[in-house]
Amino acid sequence: MSAVASVVTRFAPSPTGFLHIGGARTALFSYLYARRHGGRYLLRIEDTDRERSTDEAVRAIFDGLDWLGLVSDVEPVFQTQRFDRYREVIEGMLEAGTAYHCYCTKEELDQMRAAQMARKEKPRYDGRWRPEPGKVLPERPEGVQPVVRFKNPLSGEVLVDDMIKGPISFQNEELDDLIIARGDGTPTYNFCVVVDDMDMDITHVVRGDDHVNNTPRQINILKALGAEPPAYAHVPMILGADGVKLSKRHGAVGVIEYRALGFLPEALLNYLVRLGWSHGDQELFSRQEMVELFDISRVQKAPARFDMEKAVWVNHQYLKSADPVHVAPEFDWHLRRVGVDPAHGPALAAVIEAQRERCKTLVEMTEKSKFFYAELEGYNEKDAAKHLTAEGGAVLDALRERLEVLPQWTAPALHEAVNGFAEGRGLGLGKVAQPIRVAVAGMAISPPIDQTLFLLGRERTLARLAAAVSYCRGPGAQP
Ligand code: GLU
Repeated sequence: MSAVASVVTRFAPSPTGFLHIGGARTALFSYLYARRHGGRYLLRIEDTDRERSTDEAVRAIFDGLDWLGLVSDVEPVFQTQRFDRYREVIEGMLEAGTAYHCYCTKEELDQMRAAQMARKEKPRYDGRWRPEPGKVLPERPEGVQPVVRFKNPLSGEVLVDDMIKGPISFQNEELDDLIIARGDGTPTYNFCVVVDDMDMDITHVVRGDDHVNNTPRQINILKALGAEPPAYAHVPMILGADGVKLSKRHGAVGVIEYRALGFLPEALLNYLVRLGWSHGDQELFSRQEMVELFDISRVQKAPARFDMEKAVWVNHQYLKSADPVHVAPEFDWHLRRVGVDPAHGPALAAVIEAQRERCKTLVEMTEKSKFFYAELEGYNEKDAAKHLTAEGGAVLDALRERLEVLPQWTAPALHEAVNGFAEGRGLGLGKVAQPIRVAVAGMAISPPIDQTLFLLGRERTLARLAAAVSYCRGPGAQP
């Protein structure tokens, strides 16, 4: 049998808001590490803080992870469903003597703290209820529900060989006896993490570096439980362009907001994987390449800066090269979001193909493609003033007559008809194409004319040309 334990990682968000892109990057790193080593990637919802956790936030996390394709390999674990198990472990530790009851009241702890501060000492629990051989413990006060504290080793060091940050050493003297269960019996945060990581057989913990200082405490508890501590990789945070921790102040920080901004999930993942990690100067990675090439030990120690322009650039590269059929459902989502039913119009994949050179996001594509599916809301004022003139109207009217009798409504036939028309009248193509665009798309931007008219279809094209002709004849007659 192989002695190498297979890799198990987890992403363990606290459901207190939306899924932050920093969290998404942690999830991605965790997922990639597991995949690269043929292991499993799990999800755990850390919802024991009932005041701050909401069902809505749990849903937001699942939605975000689903959208990114970072779903757990097995059913997610919810901490709130594990209270019996935490209680059982606490009982076991009390029996084994690795944890003990502490009856200090809040007032006592406040006094302890004040006295330590007055002596210019670091405030910490002084161990007065910590049982030691030969030590006489204080008398148990009446009516105090004791907390349970972990009996942290008094000396020695905890060495964390962090996969990103390198070795970090902590002195046990600096760690006091952590409360693992409150007076009401509920387990505390660090303790739940430990029991879960142990029960889920986690071999590699990938998480934000705001948790570095929890690590030595968690390792000590794991050791007291006879469990092998996992390896740790603490991922540096993401900063905004101004060098301050990325927050709402900088704009979008929730994964789903990026969906609304018109990103493709794989483009966002690609952007996130490059945030603090590189492989030569390669910018674009398929998921398969990410799995093969991602090396967590090469994630930078310093925080990375979020660069929206670069993220949009990556998105554009994906839009341009992705299979349009694959992009179609996402485009569908955007059109429906702005009240457009894509059922009445050309195939989404065809529109994507026609538009993607000039659209960096799906929001832009939606804005520029609504006219294929919905009636025009009006003409862009400037464009109409420039192109829907008396002269433009005459051109459109004549062209409409020509198109009306076009035997076949195909892009090549339309190309010939429009070009032939312009040539026959001795007009530059722009003099013809721009009024057509404003007439059919409401604005002077659209894919090439033959494509635009082909996709729009005969009926809509002719009706819009006719409406534009009357608009040109007299003001006030909007389509
Ligand atoms: N629940 C923690 C958070 O959302 C993560 C804890 C961990 O990964 O150990 O920051």
